[in-house]
Amino acid sequence: MQTSRSTQVAIVGAGPSGLLLGHVLGLAGIDTVVIERQSADHVAARIRAGVLEDATVSFLNEIGLGTRMQAEGLPHDGFSLIYEDTPPLRIDLKGLTGRSVMVYGQTEVTRDLMQARKASGAPTVYEASSVAIHDFESATPSVSYSLDGVSHQLHADFVIGCDGYHGVCRAAAKATGRLHEIERTYPFGWLGLLADVPPVSHELIYANHADGFYLCSMRSPTRSRYYLQCSLEDRVENWSDDRFWAELARRLGPDRASALSTGPSLEKSIAPLRSFVAEPLQFGRLFLAGDAGHIVPPTGAKGLNLAVADIRVLSEALITFYTKGSEDRLNGYSELALARIWKAERFSWWMTSLLHKFDGQTLFDRRIQAAEFNTLASSHALQTALAEAYLGIFD
Ligand SMILES: Cc1cc2nc3c(=O)[nH]c(=O)nc-3n(C[C@H](O)[C@H](O)[C@H](O)COP(=O)(O)OP(=O)(O)OC[C@H]3O[C@@H](n4cnc5c(N)ncnc54)[C@H](O)[C@@H]3O)c2cc1C
Repeated sequence: MQTSRSTQVAIVGAGPSGLLLGHVLGLAGIDTVVIERQSADHVAARIRAGVLEDATVSFLNEIGLGTRMQAEGLPHDGFSLIYEDTPPLRIDLKGLTGRSVMVYGQTEVTRDLMQARKASGAPTVYEASSVAIHDFESATPSVSYSLDGVSHQLHADFVIGCDGYHGVCRAAAKATGRLHEIERTYPFGWLGLLADVPPVSHELIYANHADGFYLCSMRSPTRSRYYLQCSLEDRVENWSDDRFWAELARRLGPDRASALSTGPSLEKSIAPLRSFVAEPLQFGRLFLAGDAGHIVPPTGAKGLNLAVADIRVLSEALITFYTKGSEDRLNGYSELALARIWKAERFSWWMTSLLHKFDGQTLFDRRIQAAEFNTLASSHALQTALAEAYLGIFD
């Protein structure tokens, strides 16, 4: 059995990019269908990003999704960098730029987006299998998928690939032979642990320890998120909670570790680090957005924010098309989005290079990292540039 239906914009993937695009287009009266291969529970439970740029916060407020974020999110006016045993260097975001970031987990952003979509009545198809896109270089693209053994064909004016790094949309674009994939991988990963314990510090700490990077982050005043640099060959099963806490305490050093609260983990996972950009982001009536088009190592807290920035540009272009009939802004999406993406890629690569221990690092490499820290510590101009990049002030 096969069914067929139509919508204006078919969105593949119900992560932050797909749900956000659906929400913004819905506010403008544009019909969307979101097709997602996972269950709603699976999507809602993913633990990922946690730091929202000022522009992301403003956008979520503008589109009516800021109520819970304003009540429960934690505005942060700064963060600290530590190099080995040197005193922490506080980057005073507020003092340097007048702006702050908001600590509000991706899980919460996703929950707000899912609730808004449900309340709007716009359709989301969860647990779709065999998702494929067709004829996207023509004026009549479509998406096919199976649900409960029934095949469906969804016709649309546009298909938007919001299906993340492992999705089908970029793979289909690649088959045109016109997609360039530009990539750098890193020889280490991040072991993350989430626990219901108060954070060791009220602001984030990014640190380069002689035995590897660590990050002290949080999701709320009672929920902490910590990361340790680990080998790519390492396995979560090798890390009992006790081992994780002991290693974190060791890297923190006795003074800072005295403020560390430990407890059972709610989640532990290892994430590889990658810099990746697909060029271009448009193939006829197919557009790539969010992780489908680019990946950053999480050191600069840019992944989710870049996804939101893509959707901001793309939603404006789609609304212009439907209200004025002009495709100019759609045709400019790829160039405009990529300009921002590459600035965020540079910053995320730089933070990663500064803060990690690299295999085969020579004493020269280590001293250069230390010198980079010391130069930063003594330069108001460099701290301002860092603060602007962390806040996503790229324009
Ligand atoms: C483990 C991990 C940790 C991260 N930590 C951080 C962090 O600390 N800070 C930060 O800024 N960023 C972090 N990121 C990046 C951030 O989470 C992403 O940038 C953000 O999720 C991008 O949103 P998205 O909607 O574009 O992609 P995704 O969140 O990946 O969503 C894509 C959606 O598409 C669905 N999908 C995939 N294939 C198909 C298909 N064939 N058909 C239909 N649906 C499909 C997926 O199930 C998923 O729901 C992390 C990412 C990962 C993977």
